[in-house]
Amino acid sequence: MHTRRNFLKNSAIVGGLLGLPKVLSCDTPTPQTKTDEPLIISTWNHGLPANEAAWKVIEKGGKAIDAVEAGVRVVESDPESTSVGYGGLPDRDGNVTLDACIMDETGNAGSVCFLQHIENPISVARKVMDDTPHVMLAGEGALKFALENGFEKKKLLTADSEKAWREWLVKSEYKPIINVENHDTIGLLAMDKNGDLSGACTTSGLAYKMHGRVGDSPIIGAGLYVDNEVGAATATGMGELMMKTLGSFLVVELMRQGASAQEACQEAVMRIIRKLDYKDMQVGYLAIDKTGNMGAYAIHPGFNYAVMQGGKNELIDAKAYSN
Ligand code: ASP
Repeated sequence: MHTRRNFLKNSAIVGGLLGLPKVLSCDTPTPQTKTDEPLIISTWNHGLPANEAAWKVIEKGGKAIDAVEAGVRVVESDPESTSVGYGGLPDRDGNVTLDACIMDETGNAGSVCFLQHIENPISVARKVMDDTPHVMLAGEGALKFALENGFEKKKLLTADSEKAWREWLVKSEYKPIINVENHDTIGLLAMDKNGDLSGACTTSGLAYKMHGRVGDSPIIGAGLYVDNEVGAATATGMGELMMKTLGSFLVVELMRQGASAQEACQEAVMRIIRKLDYKDMQVGYLAIDKTGNMGAYAIHPGFNYAVMQGGKNELIDAKAYSN
């Protein structure tokens, strides 16, 4: 029920801005990283190899935007990763359809959604950003643009993914599973030696989704957001929840208002908890602020992320709202 009391409680973060007491509290210790040093963080186990590839760019003095693209391409091209790029699980009609977006330190952004037959949608999104006056290309138009720009057409449905889909068809029961396979969307954020931030986010979306469904991952502000003055955030999980709350933008805006990266991720999850039916659905947020402090938080346990700094690459379990 929308009582005035609830409204005030829910608005407490904004209250800080209005000079009212800010009640947002953080019961989760913020993971420690060295601030003001290059840093790469990314979602799930497959973040480890992605971070390695991104680090190669950063350690040579490369730009964060090139690092994030190089990093997520590794996962897109891996047939074992059944929730991103080549080998992704198809929609209910057997089509692998991909969503991806990228954003740089200048606030420039590019995105593709409902793209088929292209192994590395993140590089098509990069081209949309670099070479067109637009932000997002969809479906047939995105494919046409990719082919005109030298990307090769490829069958993305692997034998394993086709087998899994055919098994699913027997019951055709659409029920997203929390933390399915522990490797969903890859969202990757990087801070380079110059202190600049960029991010990339790419996925084949929910397995066995309706044909034409697009999730949060290609939506600037939902699956990814970067503001070089403040920080960057990315998301994974049930995209509909992030789209309804514009979660990654929310995380960055909360940091702008003074929340730490950890507090911001927590508050963005709480926004979902307070407003939406979240019980059987997972959402995980990752964020870094302008100096490289990290934040991560999920609705349910099981969300992990990979952190690379100073050549060291490790997986960390994110704290979660429910036990
Ligand atoms: N967020 C992605 C989507 O909704 C899927 C995921 O991260 O699991 O398409």
